[in-house]
Amino acid sequence: MKELLRLWHLFKPYRAWIWGGFLIALVTLLANVTLLAISGWFITAMAVAGAAGVMMNYFTPATIIRASAMARTLGRYLERLVSHEATLRQLSGLRVWFYQHLEPLAPARLQEFHSGDLLSRIRSDIDALDNFYVRVLIPVLVAASASLVFFLFTAFYDLGLALSLLVLLLIAGTLLPTASRKLGREPGRHLVETEAKLRQTAIDGTQGLSELLVFGAADDHARSLDALSAELIASQDRMSRLAGIASGGVGLCANLALWFAIWLGLPLLETNSLAPPQLAMLALLALASFEAVAPLPLAFQQLESTLTAARRLFAIVDTQPAAPEPEGPQVTPEHFHLSLRGVGFRYPKAERAALRDFNLELPVGKRIALVGPTGSGKSTVMNLLLRFWLPDAGEIRLGDLPLAQLRGEELRRHLALVSQQTHLFNTSIRENLLLAAPAASEQDLERACRTAQIHDFLQSLPEGYDTWVGETGVRLSGGQARRIAIARALLKDAPILLLDEPTEGLDGPTEQALMMAIDQAMEGRSTLLITHKPIALARMDEILVIDQGRLVERGSHQELLQGELYPRLLGFDASAAA
Ligand code: ADP
Ligand code: MG
Repeated sequence: MKELLRLWHLFKPYRAWIWGGFLIALVTLLANVTLLAISGWFITAMAVAGAAGVMMNYFTPATIIRASAMARTLGRYLERLVSHEATLRQLSGLRVWFYQHLEPLAPARLQEFHSGDLLSRIRSDIDALDNFYVRVLIPVLVAASASLVFFLFTAFYDLGLALSLLVLLLIAGTLLPTASRKLGREPGRHLVETEAKLRQTAIDGTQGLSELLVFGAADDHARSLDALSAELIASQDRMSRLAGIASGGVGLCANLALWFAIWLGLPLLETNSLAPPQLAMLALLALASFEAVAPLPLAFQQLESTLTAARRLFAIVDTQPAAPEPEGPQVTPEHFHLSLRGVGFRYPKAERAALRDFNLELPVGKRIALVGPTGSGKSTVMNLLLRFWLPDAGEIRLGDLPLAQLRGEELRRHLALVSQQTHLFNTSIRENLLLAAPAASEQDLERACRTAQIHDFLQSLPEGYDTWVGETGVRLSGGQARRIAIARALLKDAPILLLDEPTEGLDGPTEQALMMAIDQAMEGRSTLLITHKPIALARMDEILVIDQGRLVERGSHQELLQGELYPRLLGFDASAAA
């Protein structure tokens, strides 16, 4: 119920569309039922008049019939038009709404959700929410109000007749769908599970066919496929039988309503409280009115899946960001001296702290390297600097301001990043570059790419900078992709450059070439370089050695080479040197 209210609230901006769609659907339905009922009245009246040899006014009913027929046709058309328009508007609105809630959660909180299927689940969940309007809300509103209209109209002639119709409408519209949903829940779940199992077994069989044949297990596999298939057919059988009984039940109720109308109406003819054409009209109205409740079984089913989807989406939306945006007016740092003082941090659910009493100063224009073994907390420093997480202890400042007071967007404006895993989007190389600086000119792009030593390669591609990357485009080597990422970081004219193992996974010569690009990139900026490779370290102003989240040594490359840990980390063989 809580989810329903929240959904209703969420659809607030589309309320005009909802009411519009509802009114059109209601008018269409009423027109259709009117058409049938008035026709019944008209034919009977004509017959009675003919038998008695009297004149009758047939202009009015003929006009009503024609008007109803036109309203019905026009209504069906408008109904489609409005519901499509509303659906598309809601879909785009819902996607934006969800994205706005999702974005602050990345990346820290999203790792708590199973990321593999997160994207596809979100998409189908949002589509399911969207179904709420066409498949649930409108049919339920229309069924309820149309039933009321039919009841009142019939009650105008006879209350008993009206009550019998109402009871049958309620049975067909609520009791039958609820019962069939309850009975169908277990076989429905079984059906979905068996389908998944069958698909998996079939895929396994095709992919592992040669193994199955070699080990003579193909027949066994075929038999288990047969068994699953039989099970699936049995479940489908049960489901269709239920659906058949439910829709048969609605038909039965409709016909019972017709019989009740005649059975209760005939005595009324004798007392003259009802004229024969009116009886024909009420009987046909009773029969036709079940059109209003026919979509309800589907609506009930849909409601269930919509609520499940809503619950899942709301769970994500309600998650608090790991680093909430600060309240109050926007502030901008006056300079870009970066400092971490006494910083401690532990990931949620992690057993030990990733950083302990960690200190780092990056003065404007200086170059600092952070060196340490895998898992020592280097990337964690980066995550805290980007404000993806907030530290548990100590303070991080940019210029004169604690990071906690800076809006994420404002902070990241001053940082350019080349990370351990660079991501290139499935679009052209140009678009990938422009991501960092949408307003960059052609010359800017070229300059950045020359500095990153990737321009010549891009130029050699048939489509140059417009070449697509990703599944449908050119396959880039690790070094090329990394160089594009460096060009992207250069395009963003930020005063601080963060490099997290930028040469990770590259071979020696590629690494050397890339390092030249990085050297260029560092020109005129503060740089924090994370690495465990002996590259460019001689050119750094200071090197910090981190181990198990603690700062263990600091100094210049030459100084640190005299120690123990540092040469070992860089893979310099101490015994060979001795
Ligand atoms: P490095 O970059 O030096 O290899 P990290 O900073 O990535 O090390 O990791 C430091 C420690 O924190 C490791 O023990 C790692 O397992 C843990 N860790 C890193 N990222 C997360 C995370 N998102 N959630 C939980 N633990 C993490
Ligand atoms: Mg790392």
